[in-house]
Amino acid sequence: MRLHTTGIGLGFSGPIVARVATAPVPIDQRKDTALLLSFLGSAQDLHGYSAIVVRDKVDAPLGIPTMHSVQHIDHLASGHIIALEPLNGFIRTVYRPESKHNTLFATERCNSNCLMCSQPPIDKDDIAALTERNLKLIDLISPDPEYLCITGGEPTLLGDNLLAILSKLRDKMPSTYVHILTNGRRFAWPDFSHKFAEINHPNLSVGVPLYADYPSLHDYVVQARSAFDQTVLGLHQLARYGIQIEIRVVLHALTIPRLIHLAEYICRNLTFVDHVAFMGMEHIGHAPRNMSELWIDPVDYQPNLETAITILTRFGIETRIYNLQLCVLKPSLWKYSKQAISDWKNAYRPVCSDCEVQGRCGGFFQWATERQSRGVHPIKLN
Ligand code: SF4
Repeated sequence: MRLHTTGIGLGFSGPIVARVATAPVPIDQRKDTALLLSFLGSAQDLHGYSAIVVRDKVDAPLGIPTMHSVQHIDHLASGHIIALEPLNGFIRTVYRPESKHNTLFATERCNSNCLMCSQPPIDKDDIAALTERNLKLIDLISPDPEYLCITGGEPTLLGDNLLAILSKLRDKMPSTYVHILTNGRRFAWPDFSHKFAEINHPNLSVGVPLYADYPSLHDYVVQARSAFDQTVLGLHQLARYGIQIEIRVVLHALTIPRLIHLAEYICRNLTFVDHVAFMGMEHIGHAPRNMSELWIDPVDYQPNLETAITILTRFGIETRIYNLQLCVLKPSLWKYSKQAISDWKNAYRPVCSDCEVQGRCGGFFQWATERQSRGVHPIKLN
């Protein structure tokens, strides 16, 4: 699925966030609207639009911000929200109303650098620009979605900017369920967690990774000293304020050996968590480079996974499996499997066309090409 394209900016110098219209709209609806065209008609009335996005080349300024010579426009539909970046010509689709997997991308920066990070951090100062984009995006989203995810990079590095985004979400779309993916380390600082809790968002949870019960192993996986201590302290701070917490555990060769111990640790020390998600690894970002250290065939860790899930569920902690195909899971674990791969990342293999459970199976990340489980096979029900 295409989520960005490029063109040539003309007549504007700063980013624009606007809602796409694929056909002309009345003048009173043109504010914050980008009109999408294949070519410019001679008598086209362009007055009042925020921007014009056109596949054809445009030679002279139109008096309106214009992105021309656009490579692809077919993936854009009315109601999509796009961000136009004149300096590099990017046209990013930042919101699709038909999708259940929309995100607010907070920053490319992170204070960890996980060995299997799917979106390796980039040290550039993007916080002000992305916060401005996200605040504008929230203004334009309509109708309110059921779900929005805030991700990065590490969203808590936004500091007060994250609080501004959450306040706006609380006020504009209070019934939208907001899930923040964070390493949780910043919540160890009481002043930050206090200010975060004071936002009092009515429908909020945080997803925090914890990779071992053993501090140095967690720190190694996230490549940050003291990360385990900060994350666990942060989890306790969040619990103190009654914030809903999901623990996320990516399954790979470094986390599997202590998976059962981690489940026991959660039951003994993090009794307040609402949910634990065991997640198959994405083969993108840092993961392919570290595959020799990370790879384990999911078929080979089914006993550990089943025991860990049994420990957690007996304790009353809701547990799910994300990103693993039904054919590599023990059938007894199917009931914990959830289709969780975002629609724009999701794919099935040719082998899946003969499978009778494809409708219930989450499939693959479309870039999961590095290694494949020997357990992948079409399932016949009888
Ligand atoms: S064959 Fe494909 S659809 Fe069937 S269980 Fe495996 S991954 Fe899922």
